[in-house]
Amino acid sequence: MTATTRTDRLQPTDETLDPPDWDEVRAQGHRMLDDMIDYVADIRDRPVWQPMSQATRRRFRSELPRAPTDLAEVYRDFTDLVVPHATGNVHPGFMGWVHGGGTVVGMLAEMLAAGLNANLGGRDHAPIEIERQIVDWTRQLFGFPQGASGIFVTGTSMANLMAVLVARRAALGATVRREGLGEAGRRLRAYTSKAAHGCIAKAMDIAGLGSDALGCIAVDHAHRIDVAELRSAIARDRASGLHPFIVVASAGTVDVGAIDDLAGVAELCRTEGLWFHVDGAFGALAMLSPELAPRLVGIECADSIALDFHKWGQVPYDAGFLLVRDGVRHREAFASPAAYLRRETRGLAAGTDWPCDFGPDLSRGFRALKTWFTLRTFGTDRLGAAIARACALARHLEARVLAEPELQLLAPVNLNIVCFRFRADDADAINGEIVADVQESGIAAPSTTMLDGRLAIRAAIVNHRTQLRDVDRLVAAVLTFGRQRVAGLTPLIEIEAPSLAP
Ligand SMILES: *Cc1c(COP(=O)(O)O)cnc(C)c1O
Repeated sequence: MTATTRTDRLQPTDETLDPPDWDEVRAQGHRMLDDMIDYVADIRDRPVWQPMSQATRRRFRSELPRAPTDLAEVYRDFTDLVVPHATGNVHPGFMGWVHGGGTVVGMLAEMLAAGLNANLGGRDHAPIEIERQIVDWTRQLFGFPQGASGIFVTGTSMANLMAVLVARRAALGATVRREGLGEAGRRLRAYTSKAAHGCIAKAMDIAGLGSDALGCIAVDHAHRIDVAELRSAIARDRASGLHPFIVVASAGTVDVGAIDDLAGVAELCRTEGLWFHVDGAFGALAMLSPELAPRLVGIECADSIALDFHKWGQVPYDAGFLLVRDGVRHREAFASPAAYLRRETRGLAAGTDWPCDFGPDLSRGFRALKTWFTLRTFGTDRLGAAIARACALARHLEARVLAEPELQLLAPVNLNIVCFRFRADDADAINGEIVADVQESGIAAPSTTMLDGRLAIRAAIVNHRTQLRDVDRLVAAVLTFGRQRVAGLTPLIEIEAPSLAP
């Protein structure tokens, strides 16, 4: 490029990235919207998931696109290459990991949020008020006092990390934010159960405390933290000069959906002066169901709760959330003054506190909008009923497993998660194959976990679309593939998903 052309490009022109023809983009947009509504409406006609061919995968490798491509052509690649190979969690047969199903309402709200393109780091505008309203609704749901604070984040992994950071600041005072952990920081000790999610150990690592500073306490027969063992571990650590500062209890463990004795842990934390955090990634929203809420008793005493609206709340990804009882403590862990973020008494820079005072992010999207639409459109009673229904389906699956001599239940069913397996010699290998067979068949998508050293087929029922027939199809598929695998046969699986816009 010569110096002249470089200068030419710096001349102001009227060119923008807006479409030259608004009617054309409107027609294309309506088509996309219709297609995606059809996609959700007809989701049962599709396989839950299908693997990508090498040829498809290669279509995602190309040079940086310096020249423009027609919107219609890019959209065609989306319909042909992306849609048939999506995760599958919109489908009622998806029961792997813990994935929410999303709703059309949430999808539409995402579109509106993208149109407004609001930045929720701070400033004085209505989108911030929407997020504040959800903070207040969540505060009410968990019986937290006025003065509690909350913030949307990516997911519970981030919310748990932030809770550790808030508790760390509360334990060590302001110096930890200026000087780092120092000698005092190296003595901090945290506790959770052996059944807790791996992101707790990762949070300790990222917070600079080290995952070795996390005591993983034994669980009882129902996979709940052993509170007596927790009490002794705290006493032992104090006796050797360490500084216990936080206990992370689980409201719904990832493996089997166990709920720790939250009231027991709350009481222990109160007498020991420890921060009581609850990882309620999916289970905390069971508060929305009057039948299930009593199982969470004690959660109202937590110092902080991490949860995901994108799991049992059915809000589209991502919509994690952290609620903190004492908003001052929360703010002290993250607020940092900066001249360019000055608060005013009038104008767009008015209002305080800003969300950027409560977490590591400055620029933040409008996750609150899809959550606001979801909570208001369905009402929390209906969302709670969907949660209760998932638990009823899990009990149906449990009964089916207990009634089939070829199947074995591997853990008590607490909420919505059923762990079982096909009986076989070399059961770990066979059940691993069965799960892959079921996934590749497009019939259902369970996942696996290890329980007491045994590989389990794990079905977590989260999607509001899942029904009895989906659970029965999973059982039938496991039996079919299990019998074939035990007989040494490799199931023949051929499926093809319809394109989105044929
Ligand atoms: C899903 C889950 C997490 C992690 O949440 P993300 O939203 O995936 O970051 C943590 N704990 C439990 C119990 C979970 O189920």
